[in-house]
Amino acid sequence: MQQTNKSGEVWIFAEQEDGVLADIPLELLGKGRELADRLGVPLGAVLLGSGVEPLSATLAAHGADRVYLIDHPLLARYQTATYSRALIAVLRECRPQICLFGATPTGRDLAPTVASALRCGLTADCTDLGIGPYTDPVTKETFENLLLQVRPAFGGNIIATIVNPRDWPQMATVREGVMKPLPADTSRTCDIVRHDCAAFEGFTPPTEILEVAKKAKSVNLKGARIIVAAGAGVGSKENVALLRDLADALGAALGGSRAACDLGLLPAECQIGQTGVTVRPALYIACGISGAVQHVAGMKDAAKIIAINTDPAAPIFQVAHYGIVGDLTKVVPMLTHAIRELR
Ligand SMILES: Cc1cc2nc3c(=O)[nH]c(=O)nc-3n(C[C@H](O)[C@H](O)[C@H](O)COP(=O)(O)OP(=O)(O)OC[C@H]3O[C@@H](n4cnc5c(N)ncnc54)[C@H](O)[C@@H]3O)c2cc1C
Repeated sequence: MQQTNKSGEVWIFAEQEDGVLADIPLELLGKGRELADRLGVPLGAVLLGSGVEPLSATLAAHGADRVYLIDHPLLARYQTATYSRALIAVLRECRPQICLFGATPTGRDLAPTVASALRCGLTADCTDLGIGPYTDPVTKETFENLLLQVRPAFGGNIIATIVNPRDWPQMATVREGVMKPLPADTSRTCDIVRHDCAAFEGFTPPTEILEVAKKAKSVNLKGARIIVAAGAGVGSKENVALLRDLADALGAALGGSRAACDLGLLPAECQIGQTGVTVRPALYIACGISGAVQHVAGMKDAAKIIAINTDPAAPIFQVAHYGIVGDLTKVVPMLTHAIRELR
């Protein structure tokens, strides 16, 4: 849809499941607050579900000025057809200028469905967002206050800034774990704008949920304070056991590089980096990881990084605070032993 009105609000999609908010809406509110303040407009959270109104308080505490609530039994569980139908209707009516989604499985399904219906474009998997001007190199037309959508491109070799000057809303999905939530301020309140579900009148969803099968989550890298990470240099499952011992001694989670996952040393959900999980632990111990740009993109914000690598020229040493040049099969058991002694 053509951009006709630049005074609209900044919105985030408040993803929830079974009445529990995901982490990502709070992260989006942190960045959304910054964008809305820069533009001088309110920050809205669009909340879809059934019986989810109590979540509005959490959204307000983390920065929302308004919650746009669509509460309907058909929205009790996420389905592409019902959620996109309701969201398209409320976007058409309220015309925010920006709408942000988490790059979660739900966000990656919902955002493109909505964007294609509104014909507005979408930038996927952003790692940063800002507000700035843009001049069209062909028409020389200048646009003020556009959403600057930053993401790695061409296999992570360049960082691209993408703008969408002519359509509304400007839509992006944002990587989990890269934006910081604001501390909760429980004294904050927000307006709740209720939307009836005219979009559902005479509508029968094309699919019916018969059963929900949930995969048990075996790793929680995102929330881990300490991560021991395995690279291809670990070489074998026996050596992974050495890293697991170190992780156990430290109370750490075990993650790794894409190469380690591709080699079958770790399950795919343990992958850290551009196409894996983004982490921000207090301590990250990189074992046998070379430090490719795509890996570093997912762990560079760790407060302290220790790298163990046989190659003194490995790029991982450029981001590490402490480096140990040595064979991990010797260094890791020594570290584990020292930590157990200390404890
Ligand atoms: C589009 C795209 C997306 C990608 N996304 C990701 C991503 O999300 N995450 C990711 O990790 N990668 C990603 N990659 C892959 C990335 O480019 C690298 O190939 C990968 O990170 C390399 O993993 P590694 O460091 O474990 O392996 P290598 O690069 O093979 O490094 C192994 C290291 O181990 C060291 N070593 C060997 N033996 C020992 C030993 N005994 N003791 C100590 N050190 C030793 C070596 O010196 C070497 O530095 C992506 C690539 C592309 C193109």
